[in-house]
Amino acid sequence: MHFCKKCGSLMVPRKEGKKVVMVCRKCGAKTTKVEKNDFKFSTASVKKTSEVIVIDKRSQKDLSPETSVQCPKCGHGKANWWVQQTRSGDEPPTRFFKCKKCGHVWREYQ
Ligand SMILES: [Zn+2]
Ligand SMILES: [Zn+2]
Repeated sequence: MHFCKKCGSLMVPRKEGKKVVMVCRKCGAKTTKVEKNDFKFSTASVKKTSEVIVIDKRSQKDLSPETSVQCPKCGHGKANWWVQQTRSGDEPPTRFFKCKKCGHVWREYQ
């Protein structure tokens, strides 16, 4: 974060030609001194989002052996199943099924 020396408001990076300058949003004061942390912060938050997606894909791929259960969508009698912890840790894990024919995914209701 970079703050204006004149008024104390947050300064934002702006491209001027090949240089990047920090410009105050309130009084318009400029400084060419750019802190590396300003750019590190934005890239770090993007990285975190993509990591979450990777974890979700892995848990969906990790399917247990098939079981005999009827698909509510197409009526097929075989489906893969896996257990997944939903929301908070104090809830029991929910069993999910994935139809081997149409790929429909549904959860087991207790
Ligand atoms: Zn200012
Ligand atoms: Zn199906």
